[in-house]
Amino acid sequence: MKPETRNLKPLTFPALAGTIHGIFTRHGGYSRPPWHGLNFGHLVGDDPTAVDANFRLACAALNTDPARVASPFQVHGNRVWHVTAENISFRRERADGMITREPGILLHMRFADCTPLLFFDPVVGAVGLGHAGWRGTMQNVVGAVVQAMTDTFGSNPADIRLVIGPSIGVCCYQVGEDVWRAAVQAFADPAPLFDRSHGDMRFNLWEANRRQAEAAGVGEIVVSGICTSCHTDDFFSHRAEHGKTGRFGAFIGLTNSE
Ligand SMILES: [Zn+2]
Repeated sequence: MKPETRNLKPLTFPALAGTIHGIFTRHGGYSRPPWHGLNFGHLVGDDPTAVDANFRLACAALNTDPARVASPFQVHGNRVWHVTAENISFRRERADGMITREPGILLHMRFADCTPLLFFDPVVGAVGLGHAGWRGTMQNVVGAVVQAMTDTFGSNPADIRLVIGPSIGVCCYQVGEDVWRAAVQAFADPAPLFDRSHGDMRFNLWEANRRQAEAAGVGEIVVSGICTSCHTDDFFSHRAEHGKTGRFGAFIGLTNSE
């Protein structure tokens, strides 16, 4: 264990082997309750000094220069930002999808129930990252990132691997009629995406994003199957913690050797 990384335990995925990537749990950071401990969110009331220190810890764990990490201001839309060495920035661009083909640049976003989407095309050598809560899902962030990788890098969707990361599961995600109405517009067959067996209505973000990936032709789809609301010991959950919580971080980039 390296002392400077405080035993951080990011989740990694075999489907993304060949990239630098990780979805960090909340363990190991400096933030105090209710943001304890590895909070990446600057807009949730936490001490900015702790958030910055957490970010540097993660960069050290990923062996990455913080100046080479790109991150947008997430707005629950479907715009995709093509990150290059020339336009790299931190929380200035408004986007919920990111792509890059430049080795050494890391894409980074923050989550607390919304779905992290990690993309890798090993054939052209490109990565992508997406953020999809119910609003982003209805705007098909998955499809937008795949389209951007196809248009920008010439990716064949069949070569793309997608990891659908920890987010609120259908076990916990009670929603209202507004979500149902949006799903009727966004999906040809929305009913199977909702569970009404508990006397309320619950939305299945994982299956919705999986279906969109399938429709976009993505070759390999991995659903992590971890519910953030069921696992507040490991992850931040906006729902389960009644809005008083942090944001966990997801990162992906190409290795410098590629
Ligand atoms: Zn759950």
